[in-house]
Amino acid sequence: MKTILKTMGEQYGRRSWAEPWKIKMVEPIKVMTPQERRKCLEDAGYNTFLLRSEDVYIDLLTDSGTSSMSDRQWAGMMLGDEAYAGSRNFYRLEETIQRIYGYRYFVPTHQGRGAENLISQTLIKQGDVVPGNMYFTTTRLHQELAGGTFRDVVIEEAHDPANEHPFKGNVDLAKLERLIQEVGASRIPYVSLAGTVNMAGGQPVSMANVKALRALCDRYGIRLMLDATRMAENCFFIREREHGYRDKTVAEILKEFCSFTDGAWMSAKKDSLVNIGGWLAVNDGEVFEELRNLVVVYEGLHTYGGMAGRDMEALAIGTEESVQDNHIICRIGQVRYLGELLENWDIPIVKPVGGHAVFLDARKFYPHLSQDRFPAQTLASDIYLDSGVRSMERGIVSAGRDPETGHHRYPRLELVRLTLPRRVYTQSHIDVVAESVRSVWDRRHEAKGLEMTYEPRYLRFFQARFKPLS
Ligand SMILES: *Cc1c(COP(=O)(O)O)cnc(C)c1O
Repeated sequence: MKTILKTMGEQYGRRSWAEPWKIKMVEPIKVMTPQERRKCLEDAGYNTFLLRSEDVYIDLLTDSGTSSMSDRQWAGMMLGDEAYAGSRNFYRLEETIQRIYGYRYFVPTHQGRGAENLISQTLIKQGDVVPGNMYFTTTRLHQELAGGTFRDVVIEEAHDPANEHPFKGNVDLAKLERLIQEVGASRIPYVSLAGTVNMAGGQPVSMANVKALRALCDRYGIRLMLDATRMAENCFFIREREHGYRDKTVAEILKEFCSFTDGAWMSAKKDSLVNIGGWLAVNDGEVFEELRNLVVVYEGLHTYGGMAGRDMEALAIGTEESVQDNHIICRIGQVRYLGELLENWDIPIVKPVGGHAVFLDARKFYPHLSQDRFPAQTLASDIYLDSGVRSMERGIVSAGRDPETGHHRYPRLELVRLTLPRRVYTQSHIDVVAESVRSVWDRRHEAKGLEMTYEPRYLRFFQARFKPLS
């Protein structure tokens, strides 16, 4: 792959994105027959979330909590101080987050949505409006449960899978300012900024954008809060694409980015290379007091927040590893390798390839299927049937229903996400994935779509069931 050597190698004085680690322990995975896979998919109601993991060959459902920990992290697990209060691992973690992300106060939570619940309950009042750069499922739900309404202010380019804008996660400042004037600054508790933007395909936010956003928020006295879940990956893109950052480290860029925001919440199951964990960090002492009080209601004492001592130790070490340049180059390099294989075969994907996943454009696979036939859900099913590779729908099923009207939300993007766990699969696994997608692409005209047979009330994509239309 010449292009990859060029994009990932030369620029960093390396020959390729090859892994900066070797394998010390292996976990066997199962290869099944097509008949066995058909049976498993039927049992799972054609929802890849309902498959058993042991029936999956290569698991690209999510990068959430699926990373491999390093030998250092496993060693750290043995240093767990499981005291109920004041665990040593808490203080190490607090110090690490303060140093790497630069915020003053720190609150641990069991995972990202625990943090989202606390920040939403603390800052949002009934009738508030929360602008954000594209929705994320759990983020928006917690904002709504706290009485707020989410409003999308991401740039238009983010909704177009073919647009090659280098920072498709950017906030459209004019859109945001119009919204502020429409509803009034007093009804906006904070701007909810995420880097990278998951639902747009792992697309980054630029430093220039966060700076300008800070200035705009200051003008109206509005807080700027960051979903830092994949900020290390975001900072790699800043280094690669934004003028003036080529000679900075990812860690330096991360600290600078966070300095423009008032606080952050984190799903440590992503960037931070652990299987469970999360946190909140803020600069405002009063907000911290409130969060520290609320955490004991929902998560656990403020010195563990739902994590075991050993989890906090692994997270502290994982956080350090997550901002090392060698790690990030390999991480993004592997994702890009998959993207370039598919692009070389003219398979429609979201461009440019983002940080954590390659997103297939299901509308282009199945133009003959209307959105009510769940084209992305169909595509995820077809890929599993073909090879046992598990992916995830990110389209009409994920978008859910409008709480006011009860109708489906019809998102413009109808995508399937092939999400790469960190430090788990090899280049030959990635080749298998690409070849399977190609074989489904070659048979795309045969797809008939799905019908929903069971729909849960919240976050329906997790548990909905389907059956094939004939
Ligand atoms: C995963 C994720 C969350 C929620 O975190 P959990 O740890 O899954 O609860 C929030 N925001 C973004 C951008 C995410 O990807």
